[in-house]
Amino acid sequence: MGRITLNKVTKRFGDVEVIPPLDLEIEDGEFVVFVGPSGCGKSTLLRLIAGLEDVSSGRIDIDGSDATSVPPAKRGLAMVFQSYALYPHMSVRKNIAFPMKMAGVPQDEQARRIEGAAKALNLTDYLDRRPGQLSGGQRQRVAIGRAIVREPAAFLFDEPLSNLDAALRVGMRLEISELHKRLATTMVYVTHDQVEAMTMADKIVVLRAGNIEQVGSPLELYRTPRNLFVAGFIGSPR
Ligand code: ADP
Ligand code: MG
Repeated sequence: MGRITLNKVTKRFGDVEVIPPLDLEIEDGEFVVFVGPSGCGKSTLLRLIAGLEDVSSGRIDIDGSDATSVPPAKRGLAMVFQSYALYPHMSVRKNIAFPMKMAGVPQDEQARRIEGAAKALNLTDYLDRRPGQLSGGQRQRVAIGRAIVREPAAFLFDEPLSNLDAALRVGMRLEISELHKRLATTMVYVTHDQVEAMTMADKIVVLRAGNIEQVGSPLELYRTPRNLFVAGFIGSPR
């Protein structure tokens, strides 16, 4: 579970083709990072995978079946946004429970999953607090917790750490990597931060103006960048 295939996917906004025909294979359990400068189409690509935007043409398969016109809630994916989008009037527990409530998960199963997520994210002591009583890092963990309890086939992150200060970012980066190891679930992670890409990814997808410039492991991109753009972006000595 968690294999995502993009087949000649394009996206136009009006006359502007933001994503030219693009092919990409994301393997089950992989940590894939989309990296590239602001405006290159990272968020758009993630939103196409999530189903929050419709493709202009092409096809998206999830675990071998055509998901192109499947609505977001039915794709089995969970998106974590940079603005935490938590409900300020609800406790952490209720925030985490919310998607399960919507999906009709039984109460005892909800409690079991909340406990598991809270343990994984070090939130056990904060379940009765409100988001306003938490630090930025804790709030981001709640947002991740809300994704975990849906038991998605893949997690989609859109610059989840960009609102945090530098020191906290390093810690959260490690936590997300740990979580990936523990869950072994596919993660697709968007960032414009080269260090995040190089330290977290199994596979990096370097984007420029909606085009894939290169796909490879951090080491491959570092050792054999295909062009100066990739070299410059990855910071390799070419
Ligand atoms: P990134 O996440 O890499 O910064 P985006 O995917 O947000 O880039 O944007 C890619 C391009 O598509 C940008 O030129 C942006 O202005 C444009 N774009 C994104 N969303 C829309 C939209 N809803 N309508 C029109 N243009 C959009
Ligand atoms: Mg973006």
